[in-house]
Amino acid sequence: MILWFRRDLRLADNPALRQAATLGRVLPVFILDTRHGDGMRTGAASRWWLHHSLLGLDRQLGGQLRVVAGDPLDLLPGLAGETGACAVCWNRCYEPWQIARDRQLKTDLRALDIEVHSHNGSLLWEPWEVHKDDGDPYRVFTPYYRRGCLGRPAPRHPLPAPDTLAVLPPTDGEQCGAAAIEALSLLPGHPWHEKLKPHWPIGEQHSRQQLDAFLAKGLEDYREGRDYPARPNTSRLSAALHFGELSPQQVWHAASEEGLTRGLDKDLAHFHSELAWREFSYYQLYHNPSLPTANLQPKFDQFPWQDRPALRRAWQRGQTGIPMVDAGMRQLWQTGYLHNRVRMVVASFLTKNLMQHWQHGERWFRDTLVDADLASNCASWQWVAGCGLDAAPYFRIFNPVTQGRRFDPDGEYIRHYVPELAKLPDRHLHAPWEAPSALLRECGIRLGRDYPEPIVDLKQSRAAALEAFKSISG
Ligand code: FAD
Repeated sequence: MILWFRRDLRLADNPALRQAATLGRVLPVFILDTRHGDGMRTGAASRWWLHHSLLGLDRQLGGQLRVVAGDPLDLLPGLAGETGACAVCWNRCYEPWQIARDRQLKTDLRALDIEVHSHNGSLLWEPWEVHKDDGDPYRVFTPYYRRGCLGRPAPRHPLPAPDTLAVLPPTDGEQCGAAAIEALSLLPGHPWHEKLKPHWPIGEQHSRQQLDAFLAKGLEDYREGRDYPARPNTSRLSAALHFGELSPQQVWHAASEEGLTRGLDKDLAHFHSELAWREFSYYQLYHNPSLPTANLQPKFDQFPWQDRPALRRAWQRGQTGIPMVDAGMRQLWQTGYLHNRVRMVVASFLTKNLMQHWQHGERWFRDTLVDADLASNCASWQWVAGCGLDAAPYFRIFNPVTQGRRFDPDGEYIRHYVPELAKLPDRHLHAPWEAPSALLRECGIRLGRDYPEPIVDLKQSRAAALEAFKSISG
């Protein structure tokens, strides 16, 4: 039996693995697909995570994970032939290129009399199961979640890891385990990734601990605290969910147990609804395969985006002169993660104040986020840019100064990532260009030397963005 690991790098609550384990001896395989992918290159931070996640999974499998690079359409029939496997089991993936590849693979394997068993190991609700009464897909989150998802049976309970797993031993000369993972060369040549390590527990066991720690300390007050980047009220589980070190069912039910026992009903409901935003992203991608490449509202095809690489570089490097934006972009660069509230602020700044196409931001996030996820990333960028299905109304242009004052009132987040401003009093921290020059001098700051002057005027650029929107609104 071949068990093809994909975005389900775990042993517990892995429906495909459980089935494979009951069918006989298992050949566990991970394939780095070098052929398909629609040109959406996996980013450097994701490759770094994948490298460590595979090492963790391999340890759990006693060093017997088979790891290869190539085209699964060639490799899997070949492996089945060599080992005499009569079935291949996997958990479903939902990116358009994966769906097309898997469909082809099913046909090819069945033509060779090899059974294929696919399961749901990554989503709470299959995208095709949730629809309006007339059969059409939902376009708006709230009815999708409240009527469509919550109206269905509750997500299934997680399955335990198989009690026993008989792994087919490697043949002589077959490279597997850590050596095969190293051979994939997932780690970037540049040692940039070394700084990410202290921030992340990677692999199934560590992710489970991270989930438990969040439930013990972060779930209480999640509803409000999740918006404050300096508070410990977010789970930071997005990468574990993306790579499937944890399933959404495990997270959903563990949260339910903790939340209901401790009477944290509102925090729990909010946490569940955030998991549902992940589902909605996959739902949108499934029903709109062009989500990564096309505006879901076609009128945005006429939007007068500007093309100013120097502004984009300042944004990427956290050198815009707007502290909340710079803190966010530096958090991203230093840790591979960005708090959700700040993701919205920096994305709004790029697409609206700087009027750069949302795909520039999507690409940068894809390369630098450890949780980079085609569905969530593209749906969120389109949401912020205003061109998505259930997008934020265009006039909702986040003011990074107001957002900073509201969600980082003591400046803890900004001072951490923009230490050159640390001495400024809270009142001036979020807009240093408005601080009296004597105060700036006293704090040892000269704008333009120690910290940039703002690269745009927030008021004028907001007005220009609204004007541009008017031009496509007829
Ligand atoms: P928590 O608040 O603890 O939420 C729990 C889980 O729910 C998350 O791990 C995540 O899986 C899911 N979730 C929460 N909020 C959202 C959301 N708005 N959309 C989709 N799922 C959500 N998320 C990604 O996983 N990958 C991405 O590439 C990604 N890109 C984004 C780009 C932009 C411009 C924006 C505004 C948001 C993006 N998000 C993305 C969504 C969200 O910011 C992250 O999922 C969240 O910050 C992860 O932190 P957490 O695990 O601590 O979240």
